Amino acid sequence: MLLSKNLLLLPALILGLTACGDKPKEVPAVDNPAKAADAAPAEDDHDNEVSIGTVEIGGAVVELAQGHGKMKAGDESHLVVKLPTNDGGATIVRAWVGTSDRTKSLVAKGTYAAIHDDYDVHADAPDPLPEGVQWWIEIEKPDGTKAVGSANPILE
Ligand SMILES: [Zn+2]
Repeated sequence: MLLSKNLLLLPALILGLTACGDKPKEVPAVDNPAKAADAAPAEDDHDNEVSIGTVEIGGAVVELAQGHGKMKAGDESHLVVKLPTNDGGATIVRAWVGTSDRTKSLVAKGTYAAIHDDYDVHADAPDPLPEGVQWWIEIEKPDGTKAVGSANPILE
């Protein structure tokens, strides 16, 4: 009997704690372009990925698909990179939109998605799009070797 009376006091103590009612404010991703390109948006429509074919990178045939619809100048585009072998995310995949001169573009690092065994890269397209714009993909294997390939994006 005494024990149950003591337990009834607990909810009163918990209610005494101050509640934090304010929801966290959404911070615009544009504040830090480099960070925004590295991080995949939490909510994203990825049901409309369209294959843009395969490309050989460092002897490996890599499957590519583009998300976020057609690529537009200044907009973030999405590339899905599927390696021929399941490495469990040990490879580093980077991609950028533009020309082979990566210093003119924002290079984004891919996020490994274990469910699909592929890498998602979100990269901002330059504005204006350079002539002959391509997706450039860099594959860095766990042993440190790097290889680069490119593919034509789906443009407006
Ligand atoms: Zn996306």
